[in-house]
Amino acid sequence: MPNAPVIALPSRKRSSSTPATATPAAPSGTAATTSSGAQPGGAGLSQASTGAEAPGRHGQIDFNRITDTQFLAAAEHMKLEDDIRQLLITPYRELIVQIPVRMGDGKLRMFHGYRVQHNGVRGPYKGGLRFHPEVDLSEVRSLAALMTWKTALVDIPFGGAKGGITCDPTVLSRSELQALTRGFTQKIDMCLGVYRDIPAPDVNTNAQVMAWIMDEYGKKHGYTPAIVTGKPLSLGGSLGREEATGRGTSIIAREACRALGIPLKGARVAVQGFGNVGSFAAKFISELGGRVVAVSDVRGGVRNDGGLDIPALIQHRNETGSVVDFPGTQAVSNDDLLTLPVDILVPAALGGVLDGDNAGDVKAKLVIEAANSPVTPCADEILRERDVAVVPDILVNAGGVTVSYFEWVQNLQQFHWSLEEVNAKLEARMLAAWNAVYREYDNDGLPLRVAAYVVALRRVAEATRQRY
Ligand code: NAD
Repeated sequence: MPNAPVIALPSRKRSSSTPATATPAAPSGTAATTSSGAQPGGAGLSQASTGAEAPGRHGQIDFNRITDTQFLAAAEHMKLEDDIRQLLITPYRELIVQIPVRMGDGKLRMFHGYRVQHNGVRGPYKGGLRFHPEVDLSEVRSLAALMTWKTALVDIPFGGAKGGITCDPTVLSRSELQALTRGFTQKIDMCLGVYRDIPAPDVNTNAQVMAWIMDEYGKKHGYTPAIVTGKPLSLGGSLGREEATGRGTSIIAREACRALGIPLKGARVAVQGFGNVGSFAAKFISELGGRVVAVSDVRGGVRNDGGLDIPALIQHRNETGSVVDFPGTQAVSNDDLLTLPVDILVPAALGGVLDGDNAGDVKAKLVIEAANSPVTPCADEILRERDVAVVPDILVNAGGVTVSYFEWVQNLQQFHWSLEEVNAKLEARMLAAWNAVYREYDNDGLPLRVAAYVVALRRVAEATRQRY
């Protein structure tokens, strides 16, 4: 089990003057839909047709527009055919379910859950589950698309999916959380399967949640460890999975620094988010010689310009539930952390944290996107103009799904690999992906994000043409 606090309640609103919105309005009833997040009308999908940062429901960032914009930038560059464009920008299946839970106080409460299967031409749908008050269909749809490009980029035989429940897990008891998870599993059972769709952890879900899903699924289908990844080791989880996303992040940070001529040894690093991804990324980057000078979580941040002792900070977080008040540090707000005078900035919490308002104040030379969609298209443009390199999420955080793939393979083989074997295979996959992206970047002078999408899209487009 990860030691990270199970539940931390992030808000994607950066400014304290704009507090997090309440739980989004409920979708109308239980519904299975096949509606598309794409622009209707088929042919003629172009970058201009999306418009990057129009607010979504409740004035939040429309994450689906962000990923569509990124997709279309690469599609334009590749001159991807319109019919393939239309198919690849459209989710295959979107499921919205109602989950009634009898709460500890005896009252019946209704939650909404989502599973979006974006694209499965290269293999079974794969992607995490997020439990958060701001989860909605647009966000899940966007995260599902990112998974399609991510699995293609690291060349593993999966498609892309994502799921989530609109809930505030900090106010749920363990038994309520378990009932909610089991209820969700029952409701989405029809679209799960070892060769169909395999969930994993994401924000506010962990190995325990995966164990409940595996157990619930097994009641109907028999013992099926490969139905989820990110499980506890005692239930068929893989060595190295818990830290895989952070380890992969450090591998990409190392390669990016080498390629872009930024010495990692002694580089000042700030990390936003100190959950699974952020804490392991900080640990591995500091082991590579980076000087992590600031980290934060949902409760606030800490800073020490001489460098933070990351293992001690992880212990402090495990004991207190937060990085706040770590001895020998000064406090720093989450907003200020993003614009500290550092060499490398690693957003590892939620999406949309660097936008048109603050991208101009970023001092880092390199942004390593450990979170999904932390940089909006508008911020991307500003950073590019200011010569700040942004290494994209679909490359940086792909280590998690890569070791999830290894876990799935081990489960299917009913065999265990050593930690050394897992880590060596992870390193090889991440390096191959980095090299493929860097080749595009170097040859065509593309931004790293467009280069990464081009590599991924080429693979998915090729598989699509061969299927149809
Ligand atoms: P987590 O729940 O373990 O940790 C989230 C961290 O972010 C916590 O420390 C939380 O306190 C902090 N946080 C939340 N809101 C914040 C805010 N407003 N400001 C600063 N910190 C805030 O989640 P995770 O698994 O580490 O995921 C983090 C990001 O990485 C997400 O974007 C997720 O989609 C992405 N990701 C995760 C994995 C994985 O394997 N877990 C894989 C790929 C991508």
